[in-house]
Amino acid sequence: MKKDIKKVIMSDIRYLNRLFKDYYRGIRKDLPLVNSFSKREFGFIPWDKQIRMIRHISFSSRENLMTNLFNNGPRHVYSSGALYQQPENQNMDGKGFKGCDLIIDIDADHFYTPCKEDHDLWYCKECGKSGQGTVTICPSCKKSKFKTLTWICEECLDIAKNEIIKLIHDFLIPDFGIDLNDIRIAFSGHRGYHLKIENERIRTLSSDERRELADYIAGENISLEILGFQAKGGTFYRFSEDTIGWAQKIMRKTVEILNKQDKEIKNLLSTNQKFNFSNNYIKSFINSKQDFLNTIKETKRFILPSIEGFGITNWNKFFTGIVHEIGVEIDTPVTIDIHRLIRYPGSLHGKTGFKVQEILPDEIDDFNPLDERIKRLDPIIFESKVQTTQKLEILEEQVPATKIKGEKFGPYSKGEIVEVPHHIAIFLLCKEVAKTI
Ligand SMILES: [Zn+2]
Ligand SMILES: [Zn+2]
Repeated sequence: MKKDIKKVIMSDIRYLNRLFKDYYRGIRKDLPLVNSFSKREFGFIPWDKQIRMIRHISFSSRENLMTNLFNNGPRHVYSSGALYQQPENQNMDGKGFKGCDLIIDIDADHFYTPCKEDHDLWYCKECGKSGQGTVTICPSCKKSKFKTLTWICEECLDIAKNEIIKLIHDFLIPDFGIDLNDIRIAFSGHRGYHLKIENERIRTLSSDERRELADYIAGENISLEILGFQAKGGTFYRFSEDTIGWAQKIMRKTVEILNKQDKEIKNLLSTNQKFNFSNNYIKSFINSKQDFLNTIKETKRFILPSIEGFGITNWNKFFTGIVHEIGVEIDTPVTIDIHRLIRYPGSLHGKTGFKVQEILPDEIDDFNPLDERIKRLDPIIFESKVQTTQKLEILEEQVPATKIKGEKFGPYSKGEIVEVPHHIAIFLLCKEVAKTI
C-alpha cells in the first residue's frame, strides 16, 4: 500500500473521464433539478489531481449545467445547501446569503460498524505495520500517520440506512413536526446517505441553532437530571413516558430492551461501544427485568426498581447507553456548516462510479444500493446489458472482497490479474486499486 507503488494510470483516468462524460451526455433531461436551482453555488472536482476544487459557479438552467457536465465529465459534482443572490461571487460575503436547507449526513465513515474489521485496512506510514479495521494510534510505533483503505458492504450501508429511518421517524416527524414532503434523501454513491429538509422555516436557522438541533438528534449533551432522573433518600426516580421527546424515547427503548430475550440483553449490555457492563451487573439486571417492567406498568410514581449493584453510577451508565442507542449517528459539522457543498443528485461519485441516487422516504425501507431491483433507483449504472468483462491488474497490497449485485469478487492481492464485469472494473478503477491491462 506504499504511495510510490500506487501510480494513478493516466490512460485509466482518461478512460473514466470519458465514461463519466458519456453518462452525462446520455441522461440530459433525466438529471434531477434541485429547487431554487439558479440560486445554488456549484463545485466540481476534476480528474486532474493538481486541481482541488472548482467552485463559485452557478447555472441559469439545467441545460447549461448539462453542457458543462458532458464537456468535462468531472470526478465529483456538488451544489450548495445554501441559496444566494449571487452564487457565482468569489467572495463568500458578496454572495448574498438567502438561507440554507437543513442537511444531515449519515456516513459509515464516521461511526463504528463491526464489518469494518473485515473490510477496512490501515497501513502505518511511520513503521510499515498494517492491519484490518480502524485504529487511531499504531499498535507498533504509537504514531498516528496512516494510509487507509475503506471499503463498502451491504452491512454498513444497511446500518447507515437504518440511521436515516430512525432520524425521520424518531426525530424529524414526531419532535420537529417536519412534513414528509419536505424531506429529500439521497444515497451518497459511497458509504452513506444525506437527507435534506427543504422548508422556508428551516432555511432561516443559524449555525448555532443547527448545532442544537444536531446535538438533540445525536443525543449529545442530554441531561438525564433535567429529564427527571434523580436519587432521593436511597430511591431512584426515572423519566415519565408521557413527556414527549427524550424522556419518552428513553422509556420506550427501556421497555423494548426489557422485553428482549436474556441472551440479547446480555449481548447489548456488554457491548463496549455503548454500555460495557460487567457480567455481574448484567446478571443482576436480567434477574430484575420483570420487576423493572412491573414498576413501569403498575406505578405512576416513576420509581426505578432496586437492582443489586445499581447505584447512581450504574443507572447513569445504563441510561447514557440507552441515549446512545437512540441517538442518530450524524456527521454534525455538515449540519452546522451553512456554506457546505453536497453531492448533486444524479451525479456520479468518482471514488466508486456509482450514482448519487435520490430515494423517496417510502422507498428507503426496501432500497439496497448494492443490489437494487428497481431499475430507476439503481445506483450501479455501469452494469452492462451484455456480459462484458475487463482485465485488470491489482495495484494495492490487499483489496477486500466486493459484493455487488449478489456476486462476490475478491479479495485480491497485489499483482493479481483479474477478469471482472464492467461495473466491477469501473468500481476498482475509481477506487484506484487496479489498472487496466
Ligand atoms: Zn507504526
Ligand atoms: Zn461494511
